[in-house]
Amino acid sequence: MTEYSDLARKLRHRNAASVALQFPEGLKRRAREIALFLKKEGFFVIVNADPCYGACDLASDALPHVDALVHFGHTPVDDPGPKVIFEPYSVDVDLDVLGEAAPFLRQRTIGLVTTAQHVHLLPAMVRKLAEIGIAARTRTGSRGCREGQVLGCAFEAARIPSVDEILFVGTGLFHPLGVRLATGKRVIALDPLAGTVQEVDEERFLRQRFALVERARSADSYGLIVSSKTGQGRFGLAQEMASRCRNAILLLMREVNPEELLNLGFPAYVNFACPRLAYDDQPRFPAPVLSPQEFQILLGERDFSSYAIDEMS
Ligand code: SF4
Repeated sequence: MTEYSDLARKLRHRNAASVALQFPEGLKRRAREIALFLKKEGFFVIVNADPCYGACDLASDALPHVDALVHFGHTPVDDPGPKVIFEPYSVDVDLDVLGEAAPFLRQRTIGLVTTAQHVHLLPAMVRKLAEIGIAARTRTGSRGCREGQVLGCAFEAARIPSVDEILFVGTGLFHPLGVRLATGKRVIALDPLAGTVQEVDEERFLRQRFALVERARSADSYGLIVSSKTGQGRFGLAQEMASRCRNAILLLMREVNPEELLNLGFPAYVNFACPRLAYDDQPRFPAPVLSPQEFQILLGERDFSSYAIDEMS
């Protein structure tokens, strides 16, 4: 219970008597245990049980009812205000696993990026790579990211000058794909939990996105999805793009899911909410869901050869 005791101490330090807890989907199972612990410690506790995928989705509805909101598992993407406490979810790994990536690297000086779960290990990763003769360079990210940290909507930390190759350490293939598309550099993805390594190839992804843009061309109207979540608001950009397309209508939504898009019935959509929605969830959607940059291609304002991954600033 030590880690929760620290949290209780932090709350007391702020004179908070009531607290709302918010968890990403992968950590929700811990909600019951932490809430019961804090209740036993004398706090009034609310668990925000709505789906949550990032720090861009703070439980602002709960804030008027409590003295503090504790958001688990993410780093802040903007100024959250004085009532919000971020509790990171750090995952340690055996750094010997970095040796698995060495045979895949062509350069002796590389860029290094990782995700929020492992970013606390970044200095140790740099040291470990140096031990095997690889100089790793890092850069501070955007959207509140720490040194070397990328998000699914922010790859600034990967834009490291004077390196031709980047090592991504983390799970999943979306982040390294984003790094590849954002930088144009060779990207090696190391999953430190599985110990697997692969070079990122964006060709299949680009073919699928090209086909989607072509499908969307025949649509007689477009729904431009704008999120009402705290850190996903791109209302201005959506409004500006809608003004350039006479068949585009803004849709203000909180949760974007296949059922809602089916009910709305547009033959194609453009996503201004979390960029990952358009990429990861496309197979579930009943119609093409384009990124803003893909919509620009459709409108003839951008060429597919200059394809850009969608990022938030
Ligand atoms: S917008 Fe999407 S990728 Fe960015 S922080 Fe939010 S959930 Fe994560």
